[in-house]
Amino acid sequence: METLAQHLAETLKTLRAQRKWSLTQAAEQSGVSKAMLGQIERGESSPTVATLWKIATGFAVPFSLFITPPSQSPAVTHFREGERPPFRQQNAQMRVTPLADFDPLLGFDLLAIEFSAGAFSESSPHAPGVTEHVVVISGALEVQVAQRWYSLRSGEVLRFNADVPHAYRNNSSEPVLIHDLIHYPRADETAC
Ligand code: MN
Repeated sequence: METLAQHLAETLKTLRAQRKWSLTQAAEQSGVSKAMLGQIERGESSPTVATLWKIATGFAVPFSLFITPPSQSPAVTHFREGERPPFRQQNAQMRVTPLADFDPLLGFDLLAIEFSAGAFSESSPHAPGVTEHVVVISGALEVQVAQRWYSLRSGEVLRFNADVPHAYRNNSSEPVLIHDLIHYPRADETAC
């Protein structure tokens, strides 16, 4: 079976070939160094969630593309637990699992994200028009959007335009589980 590192490597190589970008151009578009991109393409590096998100934003593709291939859903799809591998950050502060495969017609990622106690994660701005719904399933999470912090408890939802710097912080002593619904506008819906 293909490992996550191999899947990352193949996906990145394919995306870069489709766009005919050199490593230098890919580095400029994503803000991730040429050396790191090269390591990922050779399957030698397990990037952080933040790095992977920069790459996804630079290439204007959904985050989940690096974990599972996109598919067009039939009328009903039952996604089972454990079918899609979690993406773990090296320091294990954050674990991201797609709950469903990305469907380009629907245009959103539905992710389960677990933050360990004390976790802090900064996200660079996503492409214009990208929105997030942070749904706290259990525990309490603080989310920063454009300099302002919001405290969320389980059952609460924060919806925000995610094309600005934002961050997630678990200041509690318990792990936090959230679902993050990230909506990407279709290419024909954005002027730029
Ligand atoms: Mn984000």
